[in-house]
Amino acid sequence: MRHFPIFRDLRGRRVVVSGAGDAAVAKLRLLLKTEARIIVYGTDPHAQITRWAGEGRLHLIPRRIDHGDALCAVLVYGANEDAAEDARIAGIGHAAGALVNIVDNLDDSDFITPAIVDRDPVTVAIGTEGAAPVLARRIKAETEERLAPGLGTLARIGQGFREAANALPHGRIRRRFWSRYFDEIGPRALAEGGEAAVHTALESLLDDILAEDSGRGHVALIGAGPGDPELLTLKARKALHEADVVIHDRLVSSEILELARREAIVIEVGKTPHGPSWQQSDIDALIVDHAGRGAHVARLKSGDPVVFGRLDEEMDALDAAGIPFIVIPGITAASAAAASIGASWTKRGRNADFRLLTGHDVAGFAEHDWRALAGPGQVAAVYMGVRAARFLAGRMMMYGAAADIPVTAIENVSRADQKIIATTLSRLPDALHDAGITGPAILFIGLSPRQAMEASDTLDLPATGVL
Ligand code: SAH
Repeated sequence: MRHFPIFRDLRGRRVVVSGAGDAAVAKLRLLLKTEARIIVYGTDPHAQITRWAGEGRLHLIPRRIDHGDALCAVLVYGANEDAAEDARIAGIGHAAGALVNIVDNLDDSDFITPAIVDRDPVTVAIGTEGAAPVLARRIKAETEERLAPGLGTLARIGQGFREAANALPHGRIRRRFWSRYFDEIGPRALAEGGEAAVHTALESLLDDILAEDSGRGHVALIGAGPGDPELLTLKARKALHEADVVIHDRLVSSEILELARREAIVIEVGKTPHGPSWQQSDIDALIVDHAGRGAHVARLKSGDPVVFGRLDEEMDALDAAGIPFIVIPGITAASAAAASIGASWTKRGRNADFRLLTGHDVAGFAEHDWRALAGPGQVAAVYMGVRAARFLAGRMMMYGAAADIPVTAIENVSRADQKIIATTLSRLPDALHDAGITGPAILFIGLSPRQAMEASDTLDLPATGVL
């Protein structure tokens, strides 16, 4: 970053603009938003500048700028659209100790003026170091759309209410007050009853929050989906954003953890398959401990917490401790995996039921109703199945499954390194080995990717690709 964005206080300060043509008008439109004392030097001024001068919004001196004219100025703009004249202005500005900007000349400028989204007192400044003005304009347009026109009014009224809001304890409760004000109560009151209604709504919101039982902790047991942050539900996102403590599984992606607040405590409670692991009872105790001390805890589990997620143990522990909780569903790995290969779990005329299986249980490789699974047209998703693949394929064929029924393995579903391997039941163990599958994977028995492939066992696809 070559240019560091700061907000300079211009109240009552001198800002000098040299030039009074189109380039000066464009800069003045922005400068007039400030409380600076603006002096424009230029012969033959643009009609708009004359009008502003007539309204007393700036001071117009109809001659060329000279040495001494920039004295005490904090900013000097060279807007003459003339290289020699602008170089002279830069000399005058620097001699006066001001920061100089030459319009459309990055290299001779001490600072640049960003694109601005103005919701005073909220100001969004967008800069691209001159590299991509088109992009800056697009970001500005998108931001203009996102930030309601009333936002500035809400911020200004809120600013005046800060002292009253200090009656709330610092931290989560005060944050809740301001989030509810900016997200729901404020916009609604402004739309329905104007500024007066916003003042009344703030008073009653403060009373409500003061009356709430604010010292109690709370837990959200959240499905974080398979990895892509865009596959997170809005509810999960909100709960994550409100959390003081985030306790997450190893499989929860770093892009999702980025969505937690910066001040949140983030704890990984990893269970590495066949490696060092947190005990479930320790995880339960950790959640209860934080919530018991009043924290809002986001317990992030990969996929959907209701699928092979040890959810019940955590709910039981919370019930036993009398701590309130909610469960927020997520997209389970098999659901995203099916989407990524363009195959349905169920299909008219093929299968009317579908199974979710685990390759492992407490006793080792898991046993299942192999006879039922081996029947024609059966479809199942196997979680934690990579190490159990040889056992699984062997068992199914022993119970009569055809060696050539399609099997598709999808590793790292929805992530940048997603890999799809389309094979058959008998070739499954070798195909997984040859492809070097080491990440989390779903094995679909009875499903192939939408466009059947002929030659190869292994197919690498871009993360978002549907065959
Ligand atoms: N609750 C999770 C499952 C947890 S069990 C869910 O609903 O998805 C862990 C297993 O889930 C892994 O061994 C793997 O089989 C599967 N899994 C989780 N995330 C995955 C991903 N991004 N890609 C492929 N499989 C995944």
